[in-house]
Amino acid sequence: MREFIQKLSIFEEARIFHLKLWQTPSFLFLLMGIITITITGITYRIANSTDDPAILIASISSVTVVVFIIGVLVVRVISKIIIINNARSEFLSLVSHQLRPPLTGTKYILEIILSEKTGKLQPQQKDLLQQGFDTNEQMLLLVNDLLDISRMAEGDSPFNYEEVQFETLLKEIEEQLTPNALEKKISLNIHLPQDRLPRIPLDPKKIKFVLQNLADNAVKYTPDGGTVTIDVGIENNMLKVSVHDTGIGVPASELEKLFTKFYRASNAVETKKTGTGLGLYIAKNVIDRHHGRIWAESELNKGSTFSFMLPLKLKRNY
Ligand code: ADP
Repeated sequence: MREFIQKLSIFEEARIFHLKLWQTPSFLFLLMGIITITITGITYRIANSTDDPAILIASISSVTVVVFIIGVLVVRVISKIIIINNARSEFLSLVSHQLRPPLTGTKYILEIILSEKTGKLQPQQKDLLQQGFDTNEQMLLLVNDLLDISRMAEGDSPFNYEEVQFETLLKEIEEQLTPNALEKKISLNIHLPQDRLPRIPLDPKKIKFVLQNLADNAVKYTPDGGTVTIDVGIENNMLKVSVHDTGIGVPASELEKLFTKFYRASNAVETKKTGTGLGLYIAKNVIDRHHGRIWAESELNKGSTFSFMLPLKLKRNY
């Protein structure tokens, strides 16, 4: 039964449009169908057993009233969906067209001034400009993350699954991560199983985002001279990826909250490292859409391990 309901995309509609299950158009149409069939059957029985036109009219009227009420509910839900969709596209256009360009422009202007190509700066001027640059970077990060979230929240946001050789993704991440790791003298290790991994069905762009977020965080929250290790293997017929670090860790009481929107642990905020608290939220969204699992383990001031698992076979209802 649950599979049948899933085929009607009731769960998908509820998730995408933030509706309760009973509010989704598919559910209401299904309900309308069941009620219409039931009441038609009852009316047929009544019509066979009585010659009283008043009873017949009453039963036909009741069918009409029920269908009308459900029809009104369906129209209301569809109007709500249209309003949500319009708000979402307006938000997307606002973010991408109005907010990003000035922030990017400011970033380049500040970069030029800070490089002292336009003249030497006093230490205090440099310090203030650097603060301005960092704040602008923080804002750019936030805008980019919001764009990602908004795109993913649109259920039809393209999740393009293909069979991917995971090692290729890792190579790309390693290349992007190395300069940062080198700068902080962090040793970066990647452990792959001896045998070549099977090709795994996933959306390479989205999974690369997840991997990059975990790896970037590991480097960001690990003090100079530490170690970041990425372990990849097959466990319980699933791909398992773990990113270990020897960084600041996460207070035990806050571990659960890391995957919620905008959450940043208190010790991370204290480090003054820029961040939005959105990366792990998006990562969880991506892994959930792959029918996988993502979680964190950590010991304060010792280090953290962020892991995710992905099924090796494509499931239905992606
Ligand atoms: P942010 O942009 O703040 O890094 P994320 O969503 O990627 O946002 O991470 C959420 C929070 O999880 C971080 O602010 C930090 O508190 C914690 N966190 C994530 N990765 C690590 C890590 N490797 N070590 C310690 N804390 C981490």
